[in-house]
Amino acid sequence: MIEVKDVKEARNATGFVFGNPSFSDHEQIIFCHDKGTGLKAIIAIHNTTLGPALGGTRMWNYKTEAEALNDVLRLSRGMTYKAAISGLKLGGGKAVIFGDSKLDKTPEMFVKFGEFIESLNGKYITAEDVGTSTSDMVNVAKSTKHVTGLPESMGGGGDPSPVTAYGVFMGMKASAKQKWGIDNLKGKKIALQGVGHVGENLLRLVSEEGAKVYVTDINQEQLKSIASKYNAEIVSLDGIYDVDADIYAPCALGATLNTENIARLKCQVISGAANNQLADEYVHGPMLEQKGILYAPDFLINAGGLINVYSELHGYDRKVAIQHTEAIYDTTLEVFKKSDCGENFYYRSGEENCGRADFIEKVSGE
Ligand code: NAD
Repeated sequence: MIEVKDVKEARNATGFVFGNPSFSDHEQIIFCHDKGTGLKAIIAIHNTTLGPALGGTRMWNYKTEAEALNDVLRLSRGMTYKAAISGLKLGGGKAVIFGDSKLDKTPEMFVKFGEFIESLNGKYITAEDVGTSTSDMVNVAKSTKHVTGLPESMGGGGDPSPVTAYGVFMGMKASAKQKWGIDNLKGKKIALQGVGHVGENLLRLVSEEGAKVYVTDINQEQLKSIASKYNAEIVSLDGIYDVDADIYAPCALGATLNTENIARLKCQVISGAANNQLADEYVHGPMLEQKGILYAPDFLINAGGLINVYSELHGYDRKVAIQHTEAIYDTTLEVFKKSDCGENFYYRSGEENCGRADFIEKVSGE
């Protein structure tokens, strides 16, 4: 295990880790390897000012180590923002495991991964993410107590995805309220990318409210069965960007919105579950603004899952988790209001910033 500490001293360094454009002042990055199980993983701890870093473990068939490092760095920074804006006493962290989750996964690999987490003495707490599930967390729990997203039979909250979807639904309704003055989604046309754990639950919620939904997914079998279950219309993978929709809901992987496809979007609102939806927030944020598209910040509206697993740390109570998730509606409107006043939002790290309202502050001249 290699640890990279005291990153601030190395701020001006260049190279694979410290020179990475996504480095963003991470506190600690841990590279994990176990020959016996084939485990190769990276744990990234972005910021622990507000508490231990909690974030899921993604298993993905990364083409290169650089791609995996970039992903884990971007995701863990997002977790810091997510916890802070949701008023949770947590820092931000995330982990990635190299491999195809359908072919390469073994229980032993996750037990071993748990040992690496245990060695961090609670500084990092894991949960499931894309490519990992509640049953993988059960294996992680064999070697560490610093794991959430466990089944209800083990005192956990089960799969957090339905709660994430509910939070995204709240954020979407707040976006509709801001854009059209009414938060009911009846008759709205929604283009939904990715009908996985969160996407399917979101599809259910918006369909129940009477929205017309267009769906796409790389998993064609899953797409067909889910589309017919909710009477949604299937569109091609690339065609999702051309749908004449009111709302675009990215619920697949991150960085799907880029210069080419933003130019094609016809929607007035983007509101979805995926983390880091914009390929480059400094380029694509202003581009969306120029097109008059209202963008609900991903780390804010997809915080339901984090809120749910946070609740496990204090004795799981689903009702409390849902109530807390409902507050995403008000926070989203609050962000839009401040944004309308021309305020810029920055995360200011510091103990005093544990409240939601404090997170959103104007920082001029930075
Ligand atoms: P998932 O793996 O269950 O679903 C993702 C779906 O997207 C899959 O069906 C996959 O086939 C599809 N997909 C992947 N690439 C695609 C592409 N290019 N075009 C169309 N479809 C594609 O994952 P999930 O748990 O539903 O999470 C979805 C997103 O939400 C992820 O970005 C995740 O990080 C984020 N998120 C999830 C949670 C949660 O509680 N699960 C919480 C916060 C954020």
